Amino acid sequence: ADGSWQQQVRAQFPIITAHPELAYLDSAATSQKPQAVLDAVQTYLTTTNANAGRGTYPWANRTTELIERARERVKEFLGDLAPERSTVHFTSGTTEGLRTVARDWLVEHLTDGDEILVPFADHRANLEPWLEARRLLAERGTEVRIRALPYQEVSGDYDHRALAEAVGPRTRFVAATHVHHVYGGDMNVHRIRAAVGPDVPICLDAAQSVGHLPVRVGDPALDVDFVVFSGHKALALPGTGAVWARNTRGPALKPAGWQGTPNTVGVVSLLAALDWLDAVGVNLVAAHVTRLATRLTDRLRRLDAYEILGCPASLTADTALPTAQRRHGIVTFRHREVPSDDLGFILFSHGFMVRADSLCQAGADEKDGSVRVSLHVYNTAEEIDRLLTVLASLE
Ligand code: PMP
Repeated sequence: ADGSWQQQVRAQFPIITAHPELAYLDSAATSQKPQAVLDAVQTYLTTTNANAGRGTYPWANRTTELIERARERVKEFLGDLAPERSTVHFTSGTTEGLRTVARDWLVEHLTDGDEILVPFADHRANLEPWLEARRLLAERGTEVRIRALPYQEVSGDYDHRALAEAVGPRTRFVAATHVHHVYGGDMNVHRIRAAVGPDVPICLDAAQSVGHLPVRVGDPALDVDFVVFSGHKALALPGTGAVWARNTRGPALKPAGWQGTPNTVGVVSLLAALDWLDAVGVNLVAAHVTRLATRLTDRLRRLDAYEILGCPASLTADTALPTAQRRHGIVTFRHREVPSDDLGFILFSHGFMVRADSLCQAGADEKDGSVRVSLHVYNTAEEIDRLLTVLASLE
């Protein structure tokens, strides 16, 4: 049953079925798009296209309605139980989303002597906005202190014990990551909440979780204040993303207005992508991807030529366990002798598209390259087995 479910799902991605000789293993960078998303875009552009927020005729009104519906859809998709209090902004991706939180919220709410905790070894997009916010505040004469979220390289998780010590009476904000874009583990946000207490806002970089596994802000284990994600990694068009803000800890993120022309096509594609993911079942997507990643890591561990980065061996494919104990669809490794760009080149000569250059990790040494395999619902066990055969031949 599982095999045919997967075949049916995979068949809905035209770019995948058009290239059976290739295997797309770079979904952490951006995802492929199902036919339903392409259809929604085509329908919108051929029946409705107009500017939003200022219309006196049906196409413009319908465009405005679609954008408002997409906002409600994001809340629903994230399991928001108090949608009347939250805000959704559409962005071009996670980078712009985190900048929005920094610029429109953080800079407005910190005072002299406040401290914020941010990750120094996650995606750079989740460090630079906070440094910029500190700079902007300093220009206004407000000095804030940035502390690093303590980190454990071995497990690829935050050091939750050290975290409790890093939290002080002036801690006003924490930026964290949901699933790490290099190590593929869940960063145990519930432990961050436990360490900082009930009043400190937490901003979650959910670029590698929304659309890949259930992300439900109504769940007490995910008591965060901002969820920032990329629509384009969740099956929607390039140049899409969103910020969801809970607005209950401290002042609200101001509502998105109608200044400027929004990326209407992108928002329409995001609406269709979330509908599609719900219809397929994001929990099934997660289970599928976890099984593939576990198959890859289990066998890769037996090949001495390879070293898996920050891969907690304790992560499992047991879908009955909470997501925090499961491996997600990202596996990063290096060959002990073959440089990553050579490995990337060899893999592509066999049809595998992987990430083989900079992984945009803050603080990482770019020369020390590694290869990242990242998966989505269209990938198959057969692709993983073919990849392993090629990797084993390079031992
Ligand atoms: N954060 C994480 C964890 C990511 O994986 C990425 C994309 N690689 C980003 C932020 C940046 O996302 P975007 O390209 O949509 O701005």
